[in-house]
Amino acid sequence: MTDTDSPPPDDEAARHREKMRKRKAVQDARVAQATQEKGLLMVHTGPGKGKTTAALGVMLRTAGYGLRVGFVQFVKGNWATGEQEALKRFADLIDHRVMGEGFTWDTQDRDRDVAAATRAWIVAQEMMADPRYHLVVLDEINIVLRYGYLDVADVLAGLDARRPNLHVLVTGRNAKAEIIEAADLVTEFQAVKHPFQAGIKAQRGIDF
Ligand code: ATP
Ligand code: MG
Repeated sequence: MTDTDSPPPDDEAARHREKMRKRKAVQDARVAQATQEKGLLMVHTGPGKGKTTAALGVMLRTAGYGLRVGFVQFVKGNWATGEQEALKRFADLIDHRVMGEGFTWDTQDRDRDVAAATRAWIVAQEMMADPRYHLVVLDEINIVLRYGYLDVADVLAGLDARRPNLHVLVTGRNAKAEIIEAADLVTEFQAVKHPFQAGIKAQRGIDF
């Protein structure tokens, strides 16, 4: 390509402006159409890392407006996590309830896991019925459903019964098809690379 092939810089700038003007018109039309407001059922699932940390991001965003958040952890519970400490600083806005007994392969006691899941679900339902909450996060409930510790029909009925303006976010791998079907927003986290596969151990602030 010679210099004479490339358009004069002014032309290029004008074309760019025109393209952006069209793009903005399309975007403005889309924004104008999206007028509904409703409490969302959101799902973070898939094998990639980031499901719980992304949920923490939504919680932070919500709390930024002074809106109340309920955060129920269904699985983790036997070890300290960074979020546990950090959330203490938001104790006036974020109610953090760690209800799980640790990973199921740690406990190896199904009855105990079922009892813990049942207790966590009772807390979750209380939060969903409490008008003070703007967002309720049910962390790793997908795992609990996957193992059959809770009945998916019961959980769906509970989610359905939530207040119309309450947002609920559920996390965990292998979300049940019924939950995905009922949801408004579903994000599948894909695993491309994880340091654990290279023999690097879980690290403070990154993994827990
Ligand atoms: P995080 O809590 O880091 O957002 P997550 O919620 O997406 O992760 P979980 O399935 O809840 O993932 O697993 C939590 C733990 O497992 C974290 O320590 C995380 O780093 C680790 N982990 C997540 N995805 C992978 C993966 N693909 N391979 C190995 N370890 C993983
Ligand atoms: Mg998680």
